[in-house]
Amino acid sequence: MQPKPQIGPKEALDKLLEGNRRFVEGAHTHTERTASDYRTSLVAGQEPFAAVLACADSRTPPEHIFDAGLGELFVCRNAGNLLNLSTLGSIEFAVTHAGCPLAMVMGHSSCGALNAAVAAAKAPEEYLSHNIDEIVRRLWPSVLATKPETDDESQWVDEAAKKNVLRMYEEMIRQSPIIDARVKSGEMAVVGAWYDLSTGFVEVLKSTL
Ligand SMILES: [Zn+2]
Repeated sequence: MQPKPQIGPKEALDKLLEGNRRFVEGAHTHTERTASDYRTSLVAGQEPFAAVLACADSRTPPEHIFDAGLGELFVCRNAGNLLNLSTLGSIEFAVTHAGCPLAMVMGHSSCGALNAAVAAAKAPEEYLSHNIDEIVRRLWPSVLATKPETDDESQWVDEAAKKNVLRMYEEMIRQSPIIDARVKSGEMAVVGAWYDLSTGFVEVLKSTL
C-alpha cells in the first residue's frame, strides 16, 4: 500500500512559504526538528511534505531557506537544478514511496551554472570538460531564449535561470506519467520557484495549483 500524504499540495506550498518567511525574519524553528530526540523519532520512516530540486550552489540549501527540520524535505541538487533521469526518478520515489504531495523546482539569482552557460554562448570555443559541457548543453536552450537586447550579462543570467526553472517544471510533468497523473487528480502539485539571494525570499513563478 502506498503512503497517504499527511497534508494536501496547497498546504504543503503554504508550509514551505511560511518556513521561508521565518528564514527571512530570522525566526527559525528548525532546531526543534533537528534535535536528537526528534532525530530518533524518525528512524521508522519519513514523510517529507515537499520534494525540492535545487541548485548545488552553496548559498541555496533548501532546508535553510525553508526553515525545515529532519524528515521534512526530500532534496535533489545539482548545478543548474537540472531534471535528468536520476533527479526525476528520485522525485518519483518521494511521491510514490514517501507520499510527497508537492514537487518544487527552485532556481536562484546570480547562478554560477547559468553564468557558465551564458559565457559559453559568448565564447563557444572555450572548453572546460565533457562533464561541465553536459550541464551547459542542458542550459543552452534557456540561455538562447533569453538573449537580451543590451549587454547586461547579469540580467541575462537571471532571465535564463528563470526560463530554466520553467523548462524543468514543464519537463517534470511531461516526462513523468506518475507525476502527470497525480497532478491531474489533485493528489500533488508541481511548483516552479525563484530564490533571491539578496532578499532571501522565494517567489512562485508557476504552479499547477
Ligand atoms: Zn546555481
